[in-house]
This record gives sequence, structure tokens and C-alpha cells, in this order.
Amino acid sequence: MSSSVKPSSVPGPVAARTLRTPDDLIGAGLAPASARAGLLAVAGQYATAIPPAFAALIEQPDDPIGLQVVPTPEELVVAPAERSDPIGDDALSPVPGIVHRYADRALLKPLLVCPLYCRFCFRREHVGPDGGVLDETALAGALDWLRTHPQIREVILTGGDPLMLSARRLGEIISALSAMEHVTTIRVHTRVPVAAPERVTDAMLDALETEKAMWMAVHINHARELSEAARASLRRIVRRGIPLLGQSVLLRGVNDSEPALEALFRGMVENRMRPYYLHQLDPAPGTARFHVPAEEGRKLLAGLRGRVTGLAWPLYVLDIPGGYGKVPLGPGYVDGAAQVRDPSGRTHRLERP
Ligand SMILES: *Cc1c(COP(=O)(O)O)cnc(C)c1O
Ligand code: SF4
Repeated sequence: MSSSVKPSSVPGPVAARTLRTPDDLIGAGLAPASARAGLLAVAGQYATAIPPAFAALIEQPDDPIGLQVVPTPEELVVAPAERSDPIGDDALSPVPGIVHRYADRALLKPLLVCPLYCRFCFRREHVGPDGGVLDETALAGALDWLRTHPQIREVILTGGDPLMLSARRLGEIISALSAMEHVTTIRVHTRVPVAAPERVTDAMLDALETEKAMWMAVHINHARELSEAARASLRRIVRRGIPLLGQSVLLRGVNDSEPALEALFRGMVENRMRPYYLHQLDPAPGTARFHVPAEEGRKLLAGLRGRVTGLAWPLYVLDIPGGYGKVPLGPGYVDGAAQVRDPSGRTHRLERP
């Protein structure tokens, strides 16, 4: 390929393995050969992985699927407001693998490996394929911390992506959590059902089996991620009695329009998944190209209010930079104490404020 050739607009052959290196990306037609040096520089800092099921959904490197996972040299430009630990998790970690910000729940991060690496990830300085698994001692320490903190009712398994563990290891963790009397709820945060649906095997589903309330939150940003294979994997999960939540990030060029958000949230509901949070993008380094101002996000959400079923309307949230927690960003409909606005903008006085 000559260095002036632009990436092909025709999808390349479906890759048989995960694309990881600049040469993989160039070979798959997702980057021009002239980008090799820039991509090598990015690779020195951030991991890349595009698994076959996700690569097959990319029609152009800058379409809503490609933008999420194809690296670009712009990632090396750090804007003033960006920071490597945007939501302040590091200061809230009492022992390796645990993040504790809210009294009744804690994050357990058994590994930092993901099926793919989102270019806008808030933990992008930490996630990656190497070195990111808690060893036996550290995992035992994290489980001990949970065991000795009876105020923890809910354990949120995240990472990285817990479904990248082997079924055996995941099963051991679920069993250990299930044996803690004070833990009533286990939540798994994952991208595997859309990114690598073939990992949702019977063995993986057996590993998730527990007497506790098991919930699963799936990170999806565009309706096209709900491929045939992804939908089949979600059905397999629901059949095991696991309720599904949808989590999305508002992203420039990916889902920053009413039609894109409507298709995404309707797609979730049609797959028995309740849209839970639409996240304002966290200011991680090199992610400026994805930023959508909160005011614009509020307008998008307001435009969907009443037009889509209430089941398809998530809470729009900001994780306040610095570790202060998540708060709803609106849109708001309350004006003062005695007046509300309806979705079309008319105001109504409340007779009983
Ligand atoms: C987001 C987050 C949670 C979960 O918050 P919910 O609002 O319950 O979904 C828990 N702990 C930490 C540290 C978090 O960042
Ligand atoms: S799946 Fe989550 S943790 Fe992994 S790269 Fe994407 S946003 Fe980051």
C-alpha cells in the first residue's frame, strides 16, 4: 500500500484474531500505512485491541464503531483539564483491587484486561493486556477486606472486564463473595457480550450462578453493537435470571444525536436491558475529540423525554472529577419550588408544591 492511500471504505476481510498492533490495523484497512509512526507512538502509551466480532462491525475507521476502538495520534495530546485518574479512584483504594467511595458498596477489580480498549476509557492509563491481574495474595487480600467490612451490601466486579477471567477463576470469586453473609448483591460490569460474545459460554454462565442477587451492567455506546451474536449472548444471560442494565458514554461522533441515542436505548430495551446511566465523558488524557458539552447532553436527553418509553431513558450522570462521586446532570424540569416544565417547555404551577 502506498503511503498516500486512504483507509479503505470497504470493510476488510473479517479478522480471525484480535487486532493489536499498528501493522494489524494497517493490514485490516483501518489505518493508512503513513500512520505507522504515529500509531507506534500511541502504542507506547495505550493498549489497543479490536476483537473479531467488533472489527466486523466497523465499516469505516471513523464510523461510530471504529471511532471507539481505532487509535489515533491525537491521543498523545493532553488538554489542560485532563488527568490520569479523572475520578480519583486511586485515593479511594484501601487495598489493591478495591475501590471504596460509597458506604454500602465497593468495586472489586480482579484484572485490568479488557476485550477491547476504548479510546476514551477513564482508566486508560491503567488497563491493558499485561500485568493487570491480581495475584492470589492480592486477590485474597481484597476478598478479606470485603469480608471484614459488613457495611458492604453490594460488590461491583469491574476492572478491566471480569468476563475476561477464565470461568474457573470467575467462579471462585463469585463463590467467595456468595459466602459473605452481608453481601446481598453482586454486579458485574462488562463489555464482553457485545465485544466478544463468544466468551459467554455455558461455563461462564455457570460461574455466575449464585444465591445472591446477580445483576449485569453492559457497556454499549451504539445500536450497531447489538449484533446478532451480541443479542444471542444477552439472551443466554437473561435466561439465567440475571437482569441487564445498559451503560453508555456520551461521545462526539458516536452517539451525540437524538436518533443515535434513541436507537441505542430502544435497542437495549428490546434486548431486555434497562438503560441505567448515560455517562458524561470523564476527562482522561487524550480524549478531547470525544467531548460533548453537558449543556448539549441535557438538550439531547430533553428531546427524548416523552418521545421514547420511560424504560428507554437513562439517568445522565457526571462523575465529578477528583473523586466526589456521581451526580445526575438533568435535564431538570423543576423551576423553583412550585413550578415544573413539561417536555415541550410549557410551565405548570403546582397546587401542592
Ligand atoms: C460508579 C461507582 C460505583 C457505583 O455507583 P452506582 O451509582 O451505584 O452505579 C461504586 N463505586 C465507585 C467507586 C464508583 O465509581
Ligand atoms: S471496556 Fe471499560 S475499562 Fe475497558 S477500555 Fe473500555 S471503558 Fe475502559
